[in-house]
Amino acid sequence: MSLSITLIEGDGVGPEIIQATCRVLKATGLKIDWEVCEAGQLSFKKGISSGVPAETIASLKRTKVALKGPLETPVGYGEKSANVTLRALFDTYANVRPVRCIPGIETPFSSRPIDFVIVRENLEDLYTGIEYMQTPSVAEALKLITRKGSEKIIRFAFELARAEGRKTVHCATKANILKLTEGLFKRVFEDISTDYPDIKAHHIIIDNCAHQMVVRPEMFDVIVTTNLHGDIISDLGSGLVGGLGLASAANIGREVSIFEAVHGSAPDIAGKNIVNPMALLFSAILMLRHLNEFDVAHFLEQALLYTVAVDHAFPKDLDKNSSLTTQEFADRVIGNLGKKTEFWPERTYRPLLLPALNKPVLPSSRKDLGIDVYIESELMPQELGESLTRIALPSPFELTMISNRGVRVFPVLPDLTPETTDHYRARFFLKESSNELIDKDILEFICHVGTHHRWMHIEKLSEFNNTPGFTKAQAED
Ligand code: NAP
Repeated sequence: MSLSITLIEGDGVGPEIIQATCRVLKATGLKIDWEVCEAGQLSFKKGISSGVPAETIASLKRTKVALKGPLETPVGYGEKSANVTLRALFDTYANVRPVRCIPGIETPFSSRPIDFVIVRENLEDLYTGIEYMQTPSVAEALKLITRKGSEKIIRFAFELARAEGRKTVHCATKANILKLTEGLFKRVFEDISTDYPDIKAHHIIIDNCAHQMVVRPEMFDVIVTTNLHGDIISDLGSGLVGGLGLASAANIGREVSIFEAVHGSAPDIAGKNIVNPMALLFSAILMLRHLNEFDVAHFLEQALLYTVAVDHAFPKDLDKNSSLTTQEFADRVIGNLGKKTEFWPERTYRPLLLPALNKPVLPSSRKDLGIDVYIESELMPQELGESLTRIALPSPFELTMISNRGVRVFPVLPDLTPETTDHYRARFFLKESSNELIDKDILEFICHVGTHHRWMHIEKLSEFNNTPGFTKAQAED
């Protein structure tokens, strides 16, 4: 039986690494029906604003798996990145990037037994790309972390640990500072970890994680983290073991999964037949395991390792004196199919199971306590505070605090005058005499505020199960 796989050549060096990888895959004897599709620059130029044509979407829906070359993000034409569109369209929520020292490839870490996997949440966090200019000089981005998205990726990380016989999962967050967003990710990790008693679960602050990745990288087995942290530490991870020419990635969803090299279209070396195809070859190995083709994956991995570690055949980025072209390197790998290395401990891989998610638990109680109103103003804090206190007098609200960039500036702190910008947050709680927050009161109040000050947006101050769903400002009472 043959496998049906969508093939997207991509831009720049894409066609060269795809050609090399497909030739090597063919030489393994595996039967693959490639559905060759377009995405990226070619599609943008044809006027497809998403960069992903309908035929490519239809093919992915059919095959459920793609091997993809890099897609150039257009500057000056097209709209969004076609990569981000593909991830979002197919809900490929898990970005998996293995970090392993490859024998024969010299790096400052060569002698270290580095072998871990970074599991990055792929859809949420600051990557939702929801941004606003709040004032002409203050920009804001929304960091969205959901319980559902966190549970999906954290369960995935534990299941991956089990499937690869790994013993520990570290959850890396900035929950010490971002207590609600990163804190939610950490709390979900702590909840889910009890379902996996066979795997050790540790939380680590992301900055310490970056430090430990350099100082003691062998301590890690699986690291699960939110999107932006994952983006940064996975590049750090590829730097530890030899760089972009080697870094592989899988974007896994419940239905569709996309396998690609971490690197981009590298336009400076495109068409020269010198690009290193190893990153895509390692990604193809991830794809084979995803398709439960464990034996072929091992067969190909051994040939690739043999080529660099025993044959000492390197593409140009790994050895400047090498005269091997991309396709000649692929030929060397093909010539080494069937050969084995002794120094690459084989893992026992099992199919990865994606369990059903917990049903969402609704809070047993919720209450709205007040509102934060974001205001653009050139006034000094004392002046603004007095004005807003006056405005609130006839309303159900009372002003309790104003902050600027997260620091309380009203009531004014004794002996301290934090520098301010034109972007204020005014916190209004319901007066004791008003017992329920109703939308009509909010709308009337905000219209009243608007006659005196320019407001940008409001946030409700709610508590769930008697726990505040909002954070205090620095120095707020
Ligand atoms: P890049 O394409 O990854 O290339 C950066 C540099 O790294 C290259 O110029 C080349 O530098 C070296 N390099 C990367 N991969 C290599 C390989 N396999 N073999 C040998 N050398 C390699 O990064 P970029 O220049 O920032 O991005 C170019 C375009 O790619 C952008 O449009 C970007 O949006 C897109 N991109 C796409 C993806 C994706 O599709 N997943 C990912 C990242 C970027 P030297 O020759 O100077 O050493």
